[in-house]
Amino acid sequence: MDRSGRDAGGSDRFGPDDDRRLRRAVVTGGAGFVGSHLCDRLREEGASVVCVDNLLTGSVDNLAARADDPGFVLDRSDVSEEFDVEGPVDLVLHLASPASPHDYARHPIETLRAGAHGTLNALELARRKGARFLLASTSEVYGDPLVHPQVESYWGNVNPVGPRSQYDEAKRFAEALTTAYRTALGVDTVIVRLFNTYGPRMRPTDGRAVPTFITQALAGRPLTVAGDGAQTRSICYVDDTVSGILAAAASGHRGPVNIGNPVELSVLELAEHIRELCSSSSPVEFVERPGDDPTLRRPDIGLARTAFGWQPVVDFDKGLAMTIDWFARLAPGGP
Ligand code: NAD
Repeated sequence: MDRSGRDAGGSDRFGPDDDRRLRRAVVTGGAGFVGSHLCDRLREEGASVVCVDNLLTGSVDNLAARADDPGFVLDRSDVSEEFDVEGPVDLVLHLASPASPHDYARHPIETLRAGAHGTLNALELARRKGARFLLASTSEVYGDPLVHPQVESYWGNVNPVGPRSQYDEAKRFAEALTTAYRTALGVDTVIVRLFNTYGPRMRPTDGRAVPTFITQALAGRPLTVAGDGAQTRSICYVDDTVSGILAAAASGHRGPVNIGNPVELSVLELAEHIRELCSSSSPVEFVERPGDDPTLRRPDIGLARTAFGWQPVVDFDKGLAMTIDWFARLAPGGP
């Protein structure tokens, strides 16, 4: 391994040459918000895709563009049970897991099983196929961070029995398991820690700040800001997140590596900004803050920049405008 985190030999795992071309990828959780954009991008870039998703929190609607696509297959297996994919596989991208606080509160056991059994089964698939494996981990492994902005070398501040523990600890275990498969079994792995991502195909009721504020602002209802709204978030447009995931996968890097947008703003600022972009006059209503809600969130993306030249490029207001437009089309009587 050199200092950039690449394996000895240093070259990227996938590239344009014929012997390094990414031909076939498995995306677990590919019917979800991030996963469906990832499937679309992989198909645009010429890889065939097997999406493994039991539709626990995802939807075939997200895969509408793939309906008659001969290079795309949807397998409705539960990754927490053993599963297999026929034929060669070059890359396994493991995203299957409930991800929004509402979803993992409703599905705590499924979330822990997806992080534990699901990650084991996805790693086993990569091992059998000799494929590269990417784990979609999360900034939540940093918990309520005592180091700001969050760097990959920070170990985190997580409550192992708190209201978010089923998600945070599932991902921390998944990172440990991925690391063990690399060191003990030689599987070619990379861990990406995704920070909050937003964009079209989020569900209006998934409880995350962006869809909540947009749907409230569009309907003229009060914007419900948790606590005093001083807690901060950094949100990354989904196209940028997908580019970061694929850049990490193509590199020879092992991670963990942060993928997120370092522009940080308070939740109250975010609510007020979305209200302005929606031309809404909704009032702000302060509501109780959920337990263990992180106070600060901002990625240090220096490693992704130097290791594989990635950084977000989508303008904040443009990304929000595209997302608002998508939600407006969903709303009854929308354009
Ligand atoms: P999502 O809920 O939209 O997608 C998750 C997908 O996984 C869904 O389609 C769901 O049906 C599927 N799934 C869940 N359990 C499964 C199982 N046992 N077997 C097969 N499929 C299963 O969530 P998302 O926002 O797209 O998140 C995708 C991944 O990215 C998750 O692993 C999440 O932890 C990670 N992540 C997302 C964000 C974000 O802001 N969206 C931030 C950090 C990390």
